[in-house]
Amino acid sequence: MRTIVIATRNEGKLKEFKELFPKCEVLSLKDISYTKEIIENGKTFEENAMIKAKQVSIETNRIVIADDSGLEVMALDGAPGIHSARYASNHNAEANNKLLLKNLEGITNRKAQFVCVICMYYPDGSYVLAEGKCEGKITEKLIGTNGFGYDPCFYVEEYGKTMAELPLSIKNKISHRAKAIQKLKELTREDFSFE
Ligand code: IMP
Repeated sequence: MRTIVIATRNEGKLKEFKELFPKCEVLSLKDISYTKEIIENGKTFEENAMIKAKQVSIETNRIVIADDSGLEVMALDGAPGIHSARYASNHNAEANNKLLLKNLEGITNRKAQFVCVICMYYPDGSYVLAEGKCEGKITEKLIGTNGFGYDPCFYVEEYGKTMAELPLSIKNKISHRAKAIQKLKELTREDFSFE
C-alpha cells in the first residue's frame, strides 16, 4: 500500500483526502510528528501549495501532497482568495463567514467559486501541479452543518443545497479538491498507481 503524507493540519481536508485515496495510507503532519512551521507567503494558490509540499517532502524524504485552496467571490474581485482561511480571523470559520455575508449585503451578483491547487512533491525534486474549481453562489444566510469553512454559505445549483447540507460522499464528487485530485491522478507518473 502506498503512503502519502498530506501537508495539512486541517482535519476537514484530511478526512476528504482519506476518502479520495481509499487505497493508500494517508498520513497527516500530526501522524508523522511534523511540527515545524510552514510559512505560506506565496502570492498564488500554486505558490502556496508548492511551498508546503516541497518543505515537508525535502525534510522527511517522503512523497508529499499539499493543497492550497480558497473561495473567490466575483463581486469582491476574487476575495477572500488566498486569504480565505484568515479573512476575518485566523481559521475561524464563523467569523470569516459572517464577514463575507456582511461584505455582500445588498449585492445581487453572488457568483463564487472554490479553487484548489494541489502539488505532489517527490523527494527527488520533481513535482506535479493540478487545479480544480467548483462554481456556486453565496447564500444570504448560513445553512447546513457538514463540511468546514465556507461550506454553509456556498450554494450548489445542481443540488439546490449548500455544500454544508450535502453529504461528504457528494461533496467529494463535485468539489474543487476532488477535481484537482482527479487531474493529479491523470497527470501523475504511470509508476505511481493510487489504486
Ligand atoms: P488553506 O488551508 O490555506 O488551503 O486555506 C483554505 C481555506 O479556504 C479554508 O480554511 C477555508 O476557509 C477555505 N476553504 C477551502 N476549501 C474549502 C471547502 O471545501 N469548503 C469550505 N471552505 C473551504
